[in-house]
Amino acid sequence: MPDTDSTELGPTGRPLPVIPEPTPLTTHGNARIVSMCNQKGGVGKTTTTINLGASLAELGRRVLLVDLDPQGSLSVGVGLDPNGIEVSTYDLLMDSDVTWKDIVTPTGTEGMDVLPAVIDLAGAEIQLVSEVGREQVLKDKLSDAATAYDVILIDCQPSLGLLTVNALTASDSVIVPLETEYFALRGVALLTDTIERVRKRLNPKLVIDGLLGTMYDGRTLHSREVMSTLVQAWGDTVFHTVIRRTVKFSDATVAGEPITEFAATSTGADAYRQLAREVLARWQRGA
Ligand code: ADP
Ligand code: MG
Repeated sequence: MPDTDSTELGPTGRPLPVIPEPTPLTTHGNARIVSMCNQKGGVGKTTTTINLGASLAELGRRVLLVDLDPQGSLSVGVGLDPNGIEVSTYDLLMDSDVTWKDIVTPTGTEGMDVLPAVIDLAGAEIQLVSEVGREQVLKDKLSDAATAYDVILIDCQPSLGLLTVNALTASDSVIVPLETEYFALRGVALLTDTIERVRKRLNPKLVIDGLLGTMYDGRTLHSREVMSTLVQAWGDTVFHTVIRRTVKFSDATVAGEPITEFAATSTGADAYRQLAREVLARWQRGA
């Protein structure tokens, strides 16, 4: 049998690469810190943070999720009761005595913890403005956590304000989820401008890991055209993995579980497992 993997066209219109088996880890620490970023809401940032995190945990990675959106959807999405959160990323950013260890909370997923958020975080953005080194606060607070985890995923709010700048300053790289719709491309230039500015002024190592097409519907010409436009503009920065549109994601959020547990054998779960492998391969290549 010929190896069809390398000639079969994937949903992005490119031949699907053969992704190597992820290397098992024997030691932990020195986490890669990754921001999930797009100033548009409803594009799959939170869903990607939870499910990429859970898929990496399935692969034996120690994962820390950081909720940096005052809406707190990530915290709810991993099953936390918002009324039960006493200390949160607000305290982490605002109180110099609070460390990540004071707010870290286990999730129902083995190997995956979360730093939860509550609505107070909205105030942090304003209060931080007058701080010295206001862009570096999260970076300083996470530098300790990096020794305890393999991956830290930061779920950003839908804006390019100071909280997002803190996330980008703390990060090694950025993943940009994009809804597979015509207007999705419009905001990307503004986002990459911001990333570029943070790289120049605050964090020279910052790179874009990739753009991720979400809410893809392969039955429509529309979705396929948007993917091909995205690949024309961004080439191999676009992940081969795409996330299809399915209601299972909202059902999983309501249940407070990653889709990899809520519907473990669904195509949505498989897509995020594939993304985890693709992401690990890019990190290994030093993308
Ligand atoms: P963001 O964090 O960018 O605002 P979310 O991850 O919260 O976006 O997703 C917005 C809504 O869309 C949520 O209700 C989520 O459950 C749903 N959703 C996310 N990804 C998909 C998908 N691939 N198919 C269908 N619905 C999705
Ligand atoms: Mg969100």
